[in-house]
Amino acid sequence: MNSEPNHSRRVCVYCASSDLCDDVYKREAYRLGVLLAQSSVRIVYGGGGRGLMGQLAAGALACGGHVTGIMPRFMQEREWGHTGLSELQIVEDMRERKHRMLAGSNAAIALPGGCGTLEELLEAITLKRLGMYDQPIVIVNQRDYFAPLLDLLDRAVRERFMEPCHRELWQVAKDADEAVELALPRNAAMAQRQGH
Ligand code: AMP
Repeated sequence: MNSEPNHSRRVCVYCASSDLCDDVYKREAYRLGVLLAQSSVRIVYGGGGRGLMGQLAAGALACGGHVTGIMPRFMQEREWGHTGLSELQIVEDMRERKHRMLAGSNAAIALPGGCGTLEELLEAITLKRLGMYDQPIVIVNQRDYFAPLLDLLDRAVRERFMEPCHRELWQVAKDADEAVELALPRNAAMAQRQGH
């Protein structure tokens, strides 16, 4: 039984808009959508209809999930928006979109993606470092995709551009299942109580 069928918790998901990547990434994005919907968690994402973005939304919607897309007007005018979402909010620019995606979320999850995903993820980590975001940030390191970024962050700590405690700003998951456990620790606790 879901404890909160009204989708009061929400998770911000960053992921690729590209359709050209390997199918293995698309399947994991779809699975993340399914898992979040099954946890009665509302998804907030960039609102795209293609790539991992489209798969994430498709997985959640197929399971009765609630998906909010937040898209700048110029993208919507280019018909990049998903047409079947629970809700599509149109904003004026990328900055407002990023703010609305993250603000008030219970966690942020980053799936593999290109420069847009990387920028969104690093902004979330930066805001958390500055005390302006205090929820889990989970990086789904599927196929070790994020290894170079994780190495760079580690080097930033070793070279004292960041402090060792900053390594705790983010968590690394191997797949969508682990990402949901890390993003929503209450889910894991509930499953343990129910003997799963
Ligand atoms: P990327 O990881 O580079 O594909 O970037 C994902 C982010 O890029 C999204 O959050 C959007 O900011 C933006 N984006 C780029 N192309 C599209 C598209 N066709 N549809 C929706 N969002 C897009």
